[in-house]
Amino acid sequence: MGVRVITVERRLQLTERTCAVCGTIFEGWGRARFCSRTCQNRWDYGQHAEQRRAERRERYWRNKEQQQAASAAREGQQG
Ligand SMILES: [Zn+2]
Repeated sequence: MGVRVITVERRLQLTERTCAVCGTIFEGWGRARFCSRTCQNRWDYGQHAEQRRAERRERYWRNKEQQQAASAAREGQQG
């Protein structure tokens, strides 16, 4: 009766990684990229922030055009 030693080498291994957000070196599983939940959230926020910024910029320019058009129309009435 032999003793079977089963060594399970999982693909996911605890390895030393560098946090993609704050640069902290931590031990993470598999494809973990963040040292903590906080950094994960911060990363998500950052991804969306870029999108939000683009939308805001677009709205800003649209408003500006409307204001210029409105003031031009007002001046046109006066003149
Ligand atoms: Zn971090």
